[in-house]
Amino acid sequence: MTSTVESGIEQRRVLTTAIPGPKSAELHARKNAAVSSGVSTGLPIYVEKAGGGIVVDIDGNQLIDFGSGIAVTTVGNAAPRVVERVQQQVADFTHTCFMVTPYAEYVEVCEALNDLTPGDHDKRSALFNSGAEAVENAVKIARHATGRPAIIAFDHAYHGRTNLTMALTAKNLPYKHRFGPFANEIYRAPMAYPYRWPTGPDNCADEAFAALVDTVHSQVGEQNTAAVIIEPIQGEGGFIVPPSGYLARVADWCRDNGILFIADEIQSGFCRTGDWFASDHEGVVPDLITTAKGIAGGLPLAAVTGRAEVMDAVHAGGLGGTYGGNPVACAAALGAIETMKSDDLCGRAREIEALFMPRLQALSAKYPQIGDIRGRGAMLAVELVADPASKTPDAALAADVNKACHAAGLVTLTAGTYGNVFRFLPPLSIGDALLSEGLDIFEQAFAAATA
Ligand SMILES: *Cc1c(COP(=O)(O)O)cnc(C)c1O
Repeated sequence: MTSTVESGIEQRRVLTTAIPGPKSAELHARKNAAVSSGVSTGLPIYVEKAGGGIVVDIDGNQLIDFGSGIAVTTVGNAAPRVVERVQQQVADFTHTCFMVTPYAEYVEVCEALNDLTPGDHDKRSALFNSGAEAVENAVKIARHATGRPAIIAFDHAYHGRTNLTMALTAKNLPYKHRFGPFANEIYRAPMAYPYRWPTGPDNCADEAFAALVDTVHSQVGEQNTAAVIIEPIQGEGGFIVPPSGYLARVADWCRDNGILFIADEIQSGFCRTGDWFASDHEGVVPDLITTAKGIAGGLPLAAVTGRAEVMDAVHAGGLGGTYGGNPVACAAALGAIETMKSDDLCGRAREIEALFMPRLQALSAKYPQIGDIRGRGAMLAVELVADPASKTPDAALAADVNKACHAAGLVTLTAGTYGNVFRFLPPLSIGDALLSEGLDIFEQAFAAATA
């Protein structure tokens, strides 16, 4: 028996053609003739509809979704409460510009963010269009509020593709290559990356913290530093989870030095890791938090939420943008947040972790190429290496497994500074049967690629 979701899509993998099929291939030829080749596609099946844990393409194939459009459709595609709110809103009005004539939906999203983000202090929020724009604004706010110029980011960080956020992002190809010069007053510290910490995982927290403190003290100056920005679990950099306690130590040190602690929760937020935010697991209360991706069920929306006195330090008119907090995107966010609460999607993410972890551990016992398993909730990854002793990144193996998964009808993604991390980001609306089947496909792909 297969279940259906309210979108009416049968929750079943179906392959009617090779992947990609002929209609997708035809459209892809048009894509190549019409779309800049700078915008590339990982799996060129062209989508007709999607819902639950299934993506349906124009050839009639039904693929299992382990990507959620990069951690965006956390509530699922075309989630009923999102659809209903969006349809109503788009019929009522589509745009007035919040800076011209405001509307309730924007205020309601900010109230929800102030309520859901870590800490029960007085907060304010501001809404934007994309994650990168939220990060840029968090930096603007931090500099304005502190009167200091420098921002500290980390190795393996990903914060976006605009000029300022490229400067914060660590990885050259594909994000930064030949796009410079980049914004200045950005400094980089080593990330607390247990698997690759030179003196071993047990020393990682202490030594990474010492390196951060030393970098700031010797190269920047605490009194010149506006903020430290960190992803509580790094996303594009390879789902790197710092050792327990490290983030709290950094946040405490920031507070002692008048430096703002910015948590970039754009990928890790909104139930993805089994709590509302990844900071929650570590008991960390950021001064500023950036959100986007999972916030609005697929509509473009992003936010900065933070301490009232920091957010309100900026002069009137200093923050904004034509489309920021668009009413349709806000309506979608309200529908998505309602879904997360009423369907306990944080709990669902923890169930997904419980389902995945034993399977990944069993696979790791069998294959020395799985160097590390990490992540939380429905944000999980395996790091692939040529052999466990050298830990040489094996990006070719990750690419081979990825390709084999695609061919078998599973939408998957890789990540990592070295391209050797295979990540799992299923929508939280997916059923157990599809999760198990997806893992079967992954295991078969792994066996084939290592044979
Ligand atoms: C995706 C991402 C961004 C950038 O978001 P866009 O909406 O693509 O601009 C920033 N930070 C993190 C952690 C992300 O995962």
